Amino acid sequence: MTKEYTGKERIEAVFRREKADRLPVVLGLTVHCATQAGYQPNEVRLDPEKAWKTFLLSEETFPTDMPRVPSNPYLPDVLKAGKDTEMKPQKGRIYRLADKENLKTFSYRPPKESRTFSTYLEMAKKSVATLTDRALFAEVGGPFSIAADLRGIQQIIYDTFDDPEYVHEVMKVATKLSLDRALALVETGIYLRIGDPSASCSLISPKIYREFVMSYHQQLLSELRKNTDARIGLHICGNIDPIMEEILSLPIDWFEIDALSSLEKMVSLSQGKIVIRGQIPMETFLDGTREDIQKEVKRCVDIAGSTRAFMLAPGCTVPFNAPMENIQVFLDAACEYGSYKYIDNQ
Ligand SMILES: [Zn+2]
Repeated sequence: MTKEYTGKERIEAVFRREKADRLPVVLGLTVHCATQAGYQPNEVRLDPEKAWKTFLLSEETFPTDMPRVPSNPYLPDVLKAGKDTEMKPQKGRIYRLADKENLKTFSYRPPKESRTFSTYLEMAKKSVATLTDRALFAEVGGPFSIAADLRGIQQIIYDTFDDPEYVHEVMKVATKLSLDRALALVETGIYLRIGDPSASCSLISPKIYREFVMSYHQQLLSELRKNTDARIGLHICGNIDPIMEEILSLPIDWFEIDALSSLEKMVSLSQGKIVIRGQIPMETFLDGTREDIQKEVKRCVDIAGSTRAFMLAPGCTVPFNAPMENIQVFLDAACEYGSYKYIDNQ
């Protein structure tokens, strides 16, 4: 009789480079099933109970091996976005470090004492206790994205030329904040994702990454390694081709590669050293045909499947307005092409 694998077993198999029945599948849905749960997407963003109900419905409708802990750890930012039904950039936003001097008095509440972050911690605990057969992941912002959030992305890029020392000072604070949050999160038993979308070569040069970001990634991840056995992943949006070797030198269990980066190059450089997760483009979820989605899944498996160190997932996220049918087509294709029956007969 063939063994029935749980999501958690599939995920752990991939981390041990062992074969399960198929590669793990990840979607990371958030408010996508809000309407089906009877809510407006923004209600779900702002209300943990509604987020929880939507999460359970999502996982019932589109079961995955590694679901994302619901609710938003950055609730204040979402609250600022107001009651708009769309997510859009905030105009006239005041950054906490708009005035450089503010760094001297900058402080933050410890994660467990912060109202919004402790809600997220509770949600992580509840998710782990409820979906015991899955590998739940939760996320914290990475240092450069926190720094960009405090100072403004454009300004911090200018600062790398005008006042490099100041950038390092901000990065030290951002790294500490990221580490404190990550340490609080891993206590809940989740798989940890560091999301550093702004550390991308779609936004900053490889030189800026090497000079101002990389050592902080090293520090953060090494500290985490020392203090926890949790599996740790890193997500960077967009193009990371010029900094792949640097990323592969980081102590991470998995890396989430976006559709703008080369999966071929990453697979060839990594040689199975880390698990790679990706990389279906957002546009394919949004307006791809059934064939487009199947083709993308097949392409990823053909490149990375035989390494046994690959998870099928969106490159970045599934757009909020992606048709439900497309999500289903992705799941079906991922189970078909991700199966070892397919991979072993390639
Ligand atoms: Zn992304």
